Amino acid sequence: MRIRRPIVGGNWKMNTDRAGAVALAERVATDLASSGTLSHVDAALFPPFPYLLPVAECLRRLNSALLLGAQDFYYEPNGAFTGEVSLEMLADCGVRALLVGHSERRHVIGEPDELLNKKVRACLDPKWSRFGGFTCVLCVGETLAQREAGQTDAVNERQLRAGLAGVSPEQVSQVVIAYEPVWAIGTGKTATPADARAAHVSIRRVLADVFGQQIADQTRIQYGGSVKGSNARELFSAGEIDGGLIGGASLKPDEFVGIVRAAAPE
Ligand code: PEP
Repeated sequence: MRIRRPIVGGNWKMNTDRAGAVALAERVATDLASSGTLSHVDAALFPPFPYLLPVAECLRRLNSALLLGAQDFYYEPNGAFTGEVSLEMLADCGVRALLVGHSERRHVIGEPDELLNKKVRACLDPKWSRFGGFTCVLCVGETLAQREAGQTDAVNERQLRAGLAGVSPEQVSQVVIAYEPVWAIGTGKTATPADARAAHVSIRRVLADVFGQQIADQTRIQYGGSVKGSNARELFSAGEIDGGLIGGASLKPDEFVGIVRAAAPE
């Protein structure tokens, strides 16, 4: 029996406009509602900041079970942090899921593990239990050079241990790990189901070492990297892969809905 409920996220990155964002959310919410998929799979949309409120309003109007997610945030509650967005503000907008450590934040913007750990701990703070807490999606993954140097597991382990430092076993129930090999993101290159599975097994081993086997077995690990409607089912049925974090294909409603459906248990 499957012990982990699959979860699929659509990371829209810096794409869409206001009308397009609402239209995309509406199509995805409507199609998933009619198929009943969200009774078996968690799914989240991560629009750009300016479109969170109109997308939240759309999901509310449709009474959708889709989670609203934010692509980034700052760990301080408020203050002189020009350009940053706090968790209080996001909670106020209806955000319930958060990305931390996406490879574009790590490698394009330059966010270090220490900062990412502060973000993880901020979004797992017990004060958020007033609405059931945020789902924190911590992304890890190796670059092509690291893979070619045989460092995949070591890189994942380092990013996991650093990202989850100071997190309690109870708090990990709010965490989803997204294994996203950097060389597969937005490139059209996908890890083979066997390679993805192997990385997930070794990530779960690290989780077991830090938090114990039971917690590790309950923690969901998504795969991300050029997942499409055409390869999703094969990846998700490889075992150990509890859904996906989807970039490009999440901008196409039919593709994204197909991927979410592919994550549903048979
Ligand atoms: C991502 O943005 O997390 C991602 C996996 O992108 P893509 O699906 O486009 O590779």
